[in-house]
Amino acid sequence: MVQGAEARMKGNEAETVKVVVRCRPMNEQETANGYKRVVDMDVDRGVVEISNVKGAETDPKKTFTFDAVYDWNSKQLELYDETFRPLVDSVLNGFNGTIFAYGQTGTGKTYTMEGIRDDPEQRGVIPNSFEHIFNHIARSSNQQYLIRSSYLEIYQEEIRDLLGKDQKKRLELKERPDTGVYVKDLQQFVCKSVNEIQHVMTVGNQNRAVGSTNMNVHSSRSHAIFIITIECSDVDEKGRGHIRVGKLNLVDLAGSERQSKTGTVGDRLKEATKINLSLSALGNVISALVDGKSTHIPYRDSKLTRLLQDSLGGNSKTIMVANIGPASYNYDETITTLRYANRAKNIKNKPKINEDPKDAILREYQQELARLKAQLTQRGGKKKKKKKQAEGDVDEAEEEEESSVDMETILQQEKDLEDERNRIQNDQHMIEEEKQQYLMDMKNKEAEIVAAKEAQEKLMGRIKTMESKLLCGGKNIIDHTNEQQRALEQRTQELLEQKRREREMLQLLEKEEESSCEIASTFSSLQQEVEAKTRKLKKLFAKLQSVKQEMGDLHEEFCRDRVDLQHTQDVLTRELKLKALIIENFISPEEKRKILSRAYFDEDEDVWKLRPVVRQTGGTLKRPVSSASRRPTSEYAKMQASLDHNPRYKGENIMVVEDPVRTTRDWEGPVVAPRVAAALEAALMPIDDDLSIDASLATLNRSQAVRSTRKGKTKGKFKSGIRPPSQVPDSSLYPKSRGLVPK
Ligand code: ADP
Ligand code: MG
Repeated sequence: MVQGAEARMKGNEAETVKVVVRCRPMNEQETANGYKRVVDMDVDRGVVEISNVKGAETDPKKTFTFDAVYDWNSKQLELYDETFRPLVDSVLNGFNGTIFAYGQTGTGKTYTMEGIRDDPEQRGVIPNSFEHIFNHIARSSNQQYLIRSSYLEIYQEEIRDLLGKDQKKRLELKERPDTGVYVKDLQQFVCKSVNEIQHVMTVGNQNRAVGSTNMNVHSSRSHAIFIITIECSDVDEKGRGHIRVGKLNLVDLAGSERQSKTGTVGDRLKEATKINLSLSALGNVISALVDGKSTHIPYRDSKLTRLLQDSLGGNSKTIMVANIGPASYNYDETITTLRYANRAKNIKNKPKINEDPKDAILREYQQELARLKAQLTQRGGKKKKKKKQAEGDVDEAEEEEESSVDMETILQQEKDLEDERNRIQNDQHMIEEEKQQYLMDMKNKEAEIVAAKEAQEKLMGRIKTMESKLLCGGKNIIDHTNEQQRALEQRTQELLEQKRREREMLQLLEKEEESSCEIASTFSSLQQEVEAKTRKLKKLFAKLQSVKQEMGDLHEEFCRDRVDLQHTQDVLTRELKLKALIIENFISPEEKRKILSRAYFDEDEDVWKLRPVVRQTGGTLKRPVSSASRRPTSEYAKMQASLDHNPRYKGENIMVVEDPVRTTRDWEGPVVAPRVAAALEAALMPIDDDLSIDASLATLNRSQAVRSTRKGKTKGKFKSGIRPPSQVPDSSLYPKSRGLVPK
């Protein structure tokens, strides 16, 4: 018995996923529309009963049994204390823990996980766990804690860091053999108090809303995961320090309702198929886990299942909250949710305390702190050490200590220096020069001391910041609850535990009763036997009916799924055919072969990739040829090539390095015949008047309208050009404008 308890504490035992169901109250609209409530809950027995709205009135109710059920009157704190508190306690002890909220949109997943933060009564699991964690630390003794938090979202199979600076960035999943799957570059914030961690959550929630046009649609299609990592260092009986690391995943899943895919094509279809991919993969993982026959668990099928691999069938304690609505029109979704949850009950996990993992940040912090503190050791101590080490090995840290002096010594030195200065200044026997020299030396010394002081202060500041991040009971956080209250809390916990055990017993008893029906019993009279057997028959008949109904339902659901899948398959096949057609007709087989040989599937990123082109090694490299055949050479070129050495006619574009033949000439200017030159000279004679054009005279004789009005010399301007004629040619040379043409 003791051994069993110890094993449970250490976590060597397998345990199933805990499943609880919560039904929200009817909302105003449902009441106004007069919907009937079809859900009945027996909180004591942990049973949910659903009246069949589709069948006859007399049809038996569908019943499901869970670890706990919470009806519309349940309070947030009640849920927390009874169900979630033990899990968070385990995380504080170094276990991994996960809480999922699953269910149709609008049934209270977000209400259960987050609730209404400003109202202490209506706060959900996440804010309540903050309070719980920091209170636990405040009450601890001889332990150091480091709390970190991250917040991410998976939307359409893309991971977004809700605390990241760049909200457009998408993160990748990576895997390490020692620590498993993790999100690369995910921000983690060290939180020192409830306020700080709440702030982290608020920032994340704000980022979640940004970038979505409709928050309700967005949140019902995306999964949000808040992760709290708790590292705790402890000292065992032998005085050795240990670090335990617990990770708490708080998951608000996307709405589980069927997203209609019918009639969508292209990007819309892609979106529709991706929306619930993670959720259907989660269902497949659960099925494979509880099936018992599957050797392969399809964790890799989606980002969500990969990330939460440990929570399902691995090293984690897991609770699933299945949220349902009470009204009749939600019947189908409610039944589907309950079936899903019912299957999840059978998943077996193997949680264990994560002791002294390699990647504990707390250890790094402690080592860094120890190093910094070593730097602060007293100078006297250092000197002694130095003497010792002069004989043997020399430590690296020693050199760093050189620059560090403890605060007291610095202050003493400062004081000594001041005294000395006063003494020198008052010394009448000293020569002025000597005095100045002394004072100069002192100034240098003073600067040295100031520098040492600054270094010291910086070091102390760093130590302080680091220490403030490590939380200890009673020091960093103040817990206001008094002893009496604590005792009361403990008592409540015990009571709740008792209640839980009672429910378990009751469920066990019911099971036993059912099976004992089949055990043959002796009857004193025939009449008694008939009665007993009729009763048994009736019971079994009812059971048969419900099983038959269940079979029908399941078949119906299966058919619906099949139609959906078939539709998706049709569309994908069509797309595939189109692509194959394009490849077949427009891409050369050689290219296709090359690409196929380079293609490989990257399991980490879940995409096909191309390997880089590798040059064939070995053998001489061929000179690349621009085209398959040589450029055709004309007959003329061939002839010229034989006569002339001008490289222009060479077949190859090779530069002739030796005896370069010049193929260009210096520019010598045009040779102008003397007559032309004389004519030009005459034409270029300076004109006194400038040119002005009077547009108003357009109708007059053009030779009159254009008058030369140019002033100054223009010679030289037209040195090489053609001079405009001094006399404007007769207007008859040009076409006349017609002016406005009457209609
Ligand atoms: P989901 O996240 O599943 O889409 P919400 O948590 O947003 O659903 O809940 C939808 C509405 O129902 C919210 O207005 C919420 O306040 C209300 N609600 C859900 N569960 C409860 C409950 N147990 N008690 C009171 N109100 C609830
Ligand atoms: Mg929600």
